[in-house]
Amino acid sequence: MADPKPSREVDAARVFAAYRDHINAGLASLCKFMGFEGVEWRAEGCKIWDTEGREYLDLLAGFGTLALGHRPPAVAAAVREQLDRMPLASRVLLDETVADLAAELAEMLPGDLQKMFFCHSGTEAVEGALKLARLHTGRPKIVAAENGFHGKTLGSLSASGREVYKQPFAPLVPEFSHVPFGDVEALAAAVDEETAAVILEPIQGEGGVIIPPDDYLPAARELCDRTGALLILDEVQTGLGRTGTMFACERSGVAPDIICLAKALGGGVMPLGAFAGSPEIWAALEENPLLHSSTLGGNPLACAAGLAAIREIKRLDLPARAGEMGEKALAELDDLRAAHPNLISQVRGRGLLIGIQFTDADIAGLVIAALAQRRVIAAYTLNNPLVLRIEPPLIITESELEQGLSALREAVAQAAELVSSLEE
Ligand code: PMP
Repeated sequence: MADPKPSREVDAARVFAAYRDHINAGLASLCKFMGFEGVEWRAEGCKIWDTEGREYLDLLAGFGTLALGHRPPAVAAAVREQLDRMPLASRVLLDETVADLAAELAEMLPGDLQKMFFCHSGTEAVEGALKLARLHTGRPKIVAAENGFHGKTLGSLSASGREVYKQPFAPLVPEFSHVPFGDVEALAAAVDEETAAVILEPIQGEGGVIIPPDDYLPAARELCDRTGALLILDEVQTGLGRTGTMFACERSGVAPDIICLAKALGGGVMPLGAFAGSPEIWAALEENPLLHSSTLGGNPLACAAGLAAIREIKRLDLPARAGEMGEKALAELDDLRAAHPNLISQVRGRGLLIGIQFTDADIAGLVIAALAQRRVIAAYTLNNPLVLRIEPPLIITESELEQGLSALREAVAQAAELVSSLEE
């Protein structure tokens, strides 16, 4: 590994000022407030180094993007090769890299999801899925779950379930309704002959790592089949190994009509998203192939990353690894909960998507700041600030995981001391 320190001076104060003045002053302050004052410079695997050469352990993995860790060599090499040959497509000639990614992904996807569209992000994948559901069914309504997270562009925001992010932008897209997640009866009551799609996360990630009852997805599948609505599963966060299987829906034996992917699909090197559906559903998009399009989406550079990423995830059997490491982590975190029942109300997760629910959002904030002091990167779940997520790269080693958990034990003990001193 090359020297992690920069070869030139980087003025951290200037970087902060540029964020404050030209990006978002609130965001700059939030990072500082959480205790993250360094300027990142280099990264590899689960480690990041800042411009001062200080080392951080990454337990957030870019909100689940870095399944293969930072700068995985096979993905970086594939991107470099593509970069030197042809990074962006003509958009008129066909491209081998794009074709190979689609064909290999089609082989891996659950059910009959043979056709796909590439984009850059999770929210774009969800937008495409929602449009396709309306197009295929000719119906207007979309049923989604309370507390769900599907992205922040207008359509996916309409499907999301946290008012703080939605209300300021009202009115959103019409004909969206929300039901409590995991409640089969509420879902059945909301879906009717006008419903184009039910959109769900197999496990709510940003909602605080909420795992529905085992019969929930099968019941949703059955309900959609009965009413002619499509089942869209948003696996942007759970997909590609995170929860111990390649796709989280595999565990319940349910295949969706449309799946949404992003985050880990770009191999931690490029932004890449996709939505995929069966040939029958896709037919409506084939009548006019320009009905849904994107100038830069699915460019060869991003697809080279995607192709290398899915091959590496399979070669390293990361779903199995996530399952094993997740079990270890959950057992240790459960001990931590038992030691601090007044601070931690619940620990839950599947694979390496784990949530620690604190009794108070301020305590979660204190623990994140105490982790930052120990140079461990972590964050809360976006729809639920009570929950600290443990979502490291799936390639994390046992010793790195142990390092992270021991920092977490110290951070919780520090928060406990502060809380008891305030109570005195
Ligand atoms: N769907 C899910 C399930 C997500 O977790 C996220 C992001 N956390 C998104 C969609 C949106 O993805 P992006 O930020 O890439 O638009």
